[in-house]
Amino acid sequence: MPVVPATTESLDRAAALLRGGGVVAFPTETVYGLGANAFDARAVARVFEIKARPAFDPLIVHVSDDAMLERVADDIPATARTLIRAFWPGPLTIVLNKRADIPDLVTAGLPTVAVRMPAHPIARALIERAATPLAAPSANPFGYLSPTQAAHVERMLDDRVDCIIDGGPTEHGVESTIVMLEPRPALLRPGAIPIEAIEASIGPLARELSDEARPLAPGRLSQHYAPHTPIRIVNHAARVPESERNGAVLLAFRTPVAGYLDARVLSAAGNLREAAAHLFEYLHELDALGAVRIDAERLPMKGVGVAIMDRLQRAGSR
Ligand code: AMP
Ligand code: MG
Repeated sequence: MPVVPATTESLDRAAALLRGGGVVAFPTETVYGLGANAFDARAVARVFEIKARPAFDPLIVHVSDDAMLERVADDIPATARTLIRAFWPGPLTIVLNKRADIPDLVTAGLPTVAVRMPAHPIARALIERAATPLAAPSANPFGYLSPTQAAHVERMLDDRVDCIIDGGPTEHGVESTIVMLEPRPALLRPGAIPIEAIEASIGPLARELSDEARPLAPGRLSQHYAPHTPIRIVNHAARVPESERNGAVLLAFRTPVAGYLDARVLSAAGNLREAAAHLFEYLHELDALGAVRIDAERLPMKGVGVAIMDRLQRAGSR
């Protein structure tokens, strides 16, 4: 079953597939996820296989209500409860102590599990119907651009998944923000929820990961989210010498610049949320043009701009 629109029937069928150990791609408010029953190690193993994702990279477990959270995590600290009240359902992932029956494969052997309650109505309906938490990374091959449309998933994973539910383009367009709380609150990945908002809720977040915490966040691998075309970050495309524009394409922030093979503008109004929503869509498009290079303009490091720059920097590092 390839791409299907989200209907009562298709969601029922997808939920049945999940209960039977299947793998289903579905929309969330961040990017498209590739979900499997989080308690079914064999189903989760298929997710790793389909993505060619290394087993040291743990998955995020998606829940639809508090009861499901309690089946996944244990000893939830008060700061986590505060964040849950403030940001769930929504694009915030919290690292918590895992319950024993979450397979080690899901958490890459860690004693902790990353959990999120998505806000997207289709994601929620699917988890509710499957009646089990879903371990779900992004629905793309490991290391490549994230999918923000069902067509991206279809192109990249097509016949390898049991079902792709089409919910249209995703709202945020970048992944969830990930935090851990113990031994002290720390940011593991900037994402759709601005760091400023989290700090307003629970106080300062450590940014520099300790050496022990570093391997816990492979989403932070230096090369990730990368197109096939080499990508370079530039301060202002208008100042790039014309000779360097030849054969290259441009991912502009607010205004296109002549001399490039082609260009996409993230947000003419300079709106960072709009820019994030288009980021991967435009990178997929630009990557398909066979250009020698993608020049991506630097964005302001505030709000979701931090997450956008994080993705561009990783996409550009080789
Ligand atoms: P994604 O690739 O978007 O599914 O995000 C998964 C990322 O979440 C991983 O690459 C890690 O960075 C992070 N993560 C998942 N589980 C844990 C955990 N138990 N502790 C720390 N980080 C985690
Ligand atoms: Mg991913």
